[in-house]
Amino acid sequence: TAAAESQPFQAEVAELLDLMVHSVYSETDIFLRELISNASDACDKLRYEAIAHPELIADGAPPAIRIAPDKAANTLTVADTGIGMDRQELIDNLGTIARSGTKSFLAKLTEAKDGANLIGQFGVGFYAAFMVAEKIVVTSRRAGSDEVWVWTSAGGSGFEIAPASEEDARRVARGTEIVLHLKPDAAKYLEAYEIERIVREYSDNIQFPILLAAAEGEPRQINLASALWQRSKSELKPEDYAQAYKQIAGAFDEPAMTLHYRAEGRQSYAVLLFAPSQKAFDLFQVERKGKVKLYVRRVFIADDAELLPAYLRFIRGVIDSEDLPLNISREMLQNNPQLAQIRKAVTGRVIGELETIGEKEPETFAKIWDAFGPVIKEGLWEDFERREKLLALSRFTTTSGENRSLKQYVDDLKPNQTEIYYLVGDSIERLKSNPKLESARARGIEVLLLTDPVDAFWTSAPLDFGGKPLKSLSQGDVDFGLIPLTDTDEKKDEPEADAATTIALIKDALGERVSDVRASQRLTASASCLVAGGDARDRALERLLAQQNR
Ligand code: ADP
Ligand code: MG
Repeated sequence: TAAAESQPFQAEVAELLDLMVHSVYSETDIFLRELISNASDACDKLRYEAIAHPELIADGAPPAIRIAPDKAANTLTVADTGIGMDRQELIDNLGTIARSGTKSFLAKLTEAKDGANLIGQFGVGFYAAFMVAEKIVVTSRRAGSDEVWVWTSAGGSGFEIAPASEEDARRVARGTEIVLHLKPDAAKYLEAYEIERIVREYSDNIQFPILLAAAEGEPRQINLASALWQRSKSELKPEDYAQAYKQIAGAFDEPAMTLHYRAEGRQSYAVLLFAPSQKAFDLFQVERKGKVKLYVRRVFIADDAELLPAYLRFIRGVIDSEDLPLNISREMLQNNPQLAQIRKAVTGRVIGELETIGEKEPETFAKIWDAFGPVIKEGLWEDFERREKLLALSRFTTTSGENRSLKQYVDDLKPNQTEIYYLVGDSIERLKSNPKLESARARGIEVLLLTDPVDAFWTSAPLDFGGKPLKSLSQGDVDFGLIPLTDTDEKKDEPEADAATTIALIKDALGERVSDVRASQRLTASASCLVAGGDARDRALERLLAQQNR
């Protein structure tokens, strides 16, 4: 047999493990959830691959997860009969973190008092086992392969990879066995009741049976092993949904929105979707990938099927179709008309549900909007069809207050006001002291203060809400003429003749540097301000684009 070979961890992994070993995290329980979740993913993948290659499960053993505590050896084993890993997969999957944002995550983790929540959010899953284990031995056989490989690490800077002994190879007929050599203070994880408690708390909704091995007698199934989204709403409690959310999304927060229904008709499918109440790390990654999982008749198919538009990528959960073919390929997913229908219908339902929460539970909605508003607003730019609905959903900080909807804005229009005014900038503070607000303020006109980077984009296209066009105060002519002054301190406009002389003088002095100089109604106290021409791009967008071109 070949000799064991040592390999270094990727630098980020080494740093992460160092943090795990040297920090005290109170929530160490999550390691088991992470290992079970990986085992369940592996069972999902096996079932999926077996659709095209039934010989992979020819032995008839259904995918399952087994947990075996061994007090004498001080080890806890988590084994699955899922897809398994070959040598290269062991090296790649258990030696690197392939995710962007790892650096900023590690920085946050260093600062955080208790990183368990962050660990779960970021999904460093497997490595969480180093919170409770001083050494980990992973023995794995890729389904259908003759080779079995053993990955061993005591944390630190690297791991060893070696072919399995005959005995180990015989034991691991398919899938992955993970043996944790527990730290002295982690012995409680050898108690059956502790294991059952954690599984009940975090993993009850895992679809595959979780079997707990006993010192004597047969192993016992300790989870429900049913797909929660297939059960009827009436038999489910909020706690059940919260747990399903945490398990499906790998999250620790409570769901701010739960949407569970079954569509029947031209197509049948079950939908279980959640909006988190906390922001995820990777929300603003360039790929903007969604995370809703596609199942076909209880079989996991893909978690990158783009079941919702990118601006709803924060939504987590499952869509389980009764009609799609099980052997649907990744390429087919992209242009499948049935899936397109589902996508359209579910997108409408999600937006409808957000609307309802906005009306009936403004506090909950404020949480969702705080966390995901900037993402949802991408839809104002991208989803022409639903722009009106998304505008209605949007909340704004305005000169009148926070969390204002456009409906509220329009209800509070001043006499003769026919437009919705806004200003785009970097911060609310700076916008509030912008001289361009002065005249609006003098007339008591509400102005939207837009400070998210995405605001510069969606405002660059002409928009209206309820027949009222949106208008930037920093672009072109703003005519407040017919809107009466409420602030009586404002002086009457200077006579035209005087203005004309002044303008001529200024034009002369500035020459080519400006395209025009005009008298403005925008200002009351300040002498002048710079604005973009009527058809020129908004200044904030110009700045953003200039930044990106640097
Ligand atoms: P994540 O599950 O978010 O991908 P993890 O750190 O939990 O991150 O796992 C890393 C990778 O290791 C997984 O994506 C998977 O490819 C592989 N892996 C982990 N555990 C198993 C297992 N029991 N069976 C097969 N592959 C596994
Ligand atoms: Mg995982």
